[in-house]
Amino acid sequence: MKLFSGILAVAGFLLTSALIVSACHQYPIEYWIYGVVGSLLILINLLILTAWFAFGEWGLWSYVALSSVLTLFVTLVTNAKWLNIQILVFIALGVFVTIFKNSMVSYILSVDRQIGTLEEERNALQAEYSYMQGTNDALKEKVIRYATLKDLTSRLSSTLSLEGVIDIVIENVSDLVEKSDACILYLVDEDAHELALKAARSKEGTLSVKSKKGDIFDMWVLKQRQPLLVSDTDKDFRFNLDLVPEEFKREFKSVIAAPLISQKKVIGILRVESRDVEAYVSDDLRLLTTLSDLAAIALENARLYRRIEELAISDGLTGLYCHRYFKERLDEDVLKAIRIRQPLSLLMLDIDGFKGYNDKYGHTAGDIVLKSIGDILKSSIELGDLAARYGGEEFVIILFGKGKIEARALGEAVRRKIESQKFVLRQVDTHVTVSIGCASLPDDAVARDELIRSADAALYQAKTGGGNKICLA
Ligand code: GH3
Ligand code: MG
Ligand code: MG
Repeated sequence: MKLFSGILAVAGFLLTSALIVSACHQYPIEYWIYGVVGSLLILINLLILTAWFAFGEWGLWSYVALSSVLTLFVTLVTNAKWLNIQILVFIALGVFVTIFKNSMVSYILSVDRQIGTLEEERNALQAEYSYMQGTNDALKEKVIRYATLKDLTSRLSSTLSLEGVIDIVIENVSDLVEKSDACILYLVDEDAHELALKAARSKEGTLSVKSKKGDIFDMWVLKQRQPLLVSDTDKDFRFNLDLVPEEFKREFKSVIAAPLISQKKVIGILRVESRDVEAYVSDDLRLLTTLSDLAAIALENARLYRRIEELAISDGLTGLYCHRYFKERLDEDVLKAIRIRQPLSLLMLDIDGFKGYNDKYGHTAGDIVLKSIGDILKSSIELGDLAARYGGEEFVIILFGKGKIEARALGEAVRRKIESQKFVLRQVDTHVTVSIGCASLPDDAVARDELIRSADAALYQAKTGGGNKICLA
């Protein structure tokens, strides 16, 4: 400020003097020149004040002296004696400033201070503004995230299929979590007690994941039952990457993962990865945890629904399909076989002398036999075939696409397996045999009920023929 005032005082004075001197050299001197010179001399008052501000008291009096000499020069050249009054004004200004300098200095300082305070306030306001803008952006982001979460919730509640839920979850995770180079969903296989990969997705689409049962990061989440945030996989002391088999290694540096918990049990893991270090903050992990909670509920609902569906169509004792479902499937399969001109065979089985077995060994022993026969049937059929409990101790097998010869071979194999199966009761080996009737489409029937009747008739034939045999319709 002082430097600027100094420059202004010196440059201003030089310029003003030059103007005044050059104006006074006009000949003849016209009236307007008096006006200009007078105004410039008045302006010099301001320059005197500036010199005082820049150089102090010696500056003030030096300028008063210089200005007075300049004025004297002007009066001599122009003969305008009345301009000498300006010398008195300069001296008066000098005296005034000398007398009141203390209060003037404190006034200037207070103005300076006020300017400083105002500047501070402006800076604070600017900082507050940028903070508010940041908060505003964060809020906007949150609103978008919550809207997507709401949308996800309604989409999840619209499906009861396990595959549908998995698809929706994996799709939304990659949309919601920024910098998601890979999104992976594992579910716990309750029979094998391990993780099983269910879906994996990258920004570009599907993703091939070799670690189908999870890696050290998933194991940590599974064991700790807690969300995990790793900012740099190379620097996190909790994980030793040397333990990850070479073929499982993928290109990533940051990971967030959350357990899917339902009824206090970990049912799976939802995981997001990025190739950048420090890609995620705790806010991202919180979002993933919310997503996992929603996903866990939806997955559990889908599982329960599937279980109910299974229960509704299966027999409680043997685990085979029930009579009602068998009829529905046979209906569909018969129509389909006729439409695509494929053979279809039906085997009908009845345990021989089962009433006597029950009487001799008890009803509970009879139940064990029924269950074992159910297991034999399940293990004997192929994908696409169907085994069901038709009645008390009667069973049926639908063999889609198989003619009489194949059906007879399979029936014979089942008959032999049952015949050779030992049921140990109170250290006594017991056995049962079955009679089987076999009927095929289109040879023996062209409709569902006709096919059942034919198989039943063949079964009757096997019974009357002494049992433990298979008869064809
Ligand atoms: P057959 O050789 O003529 O078939 O003689 P069978 O004694 O097997 O005669 P039938 O097929 O009429 O016998 C049905 C018996 O099956 C009657 C009943 O005691 C038994 N049974 C039916 N349902 C069950 C069940 O759920 N558990 C047990 N333990 N026995 C059953
Ligand atoms: Mg019977
Ligand atoms: Mg029987």
